[in-house]
Amino acid sequence: MNLECPYCEKEISDPDEKWEQSTTYEHECPHCGKNFVFEVEYIRTYSANQADCLNGGEHKYKDVNQYGWPEPRTFQRCVDCDHEVHNEKVSGWPWASPLDWQVRRRDLSRLSRI
Ligand SMILES: [Zn+2]
Ligand SMILES: [Zn+2]
Repeated sequence: MNLECPYCEKEISDPDEKWEQSTTYEHECPHCGKNFVFEVEYIRTYSANQADCLNGGEHKYKDVNQYGWPEPRTFQRCVDCDHEVHNEKVSGWPWASPLDWQVRRRDLSRLSRI
């Protein structure tokens, strides 16, 4: 969003400051040298969606692939409310090291507490 001088109508690059809303500021145009005042308006936007699962309906789960350590995995996340379900599928890598198994057991104990 750029400020436009009310005298010469040239654009003034947005000064990188935190302007307060509903306050009048004085500014000197760098192009024509005239002083003018301006106010800043912030536009608040919302993006609202229906979330049936929060109204007694079913979650709409979608598979999410996570590429992480120690191995990529897939879990499900509700498209509406972001609720996640982690089904720890122990893929049983035959070459899994003891460290991998420790991590996996820790993951499982965390899951069982949910
Ligand atoms: Zn000007
Ligand atoms: Zn949901």
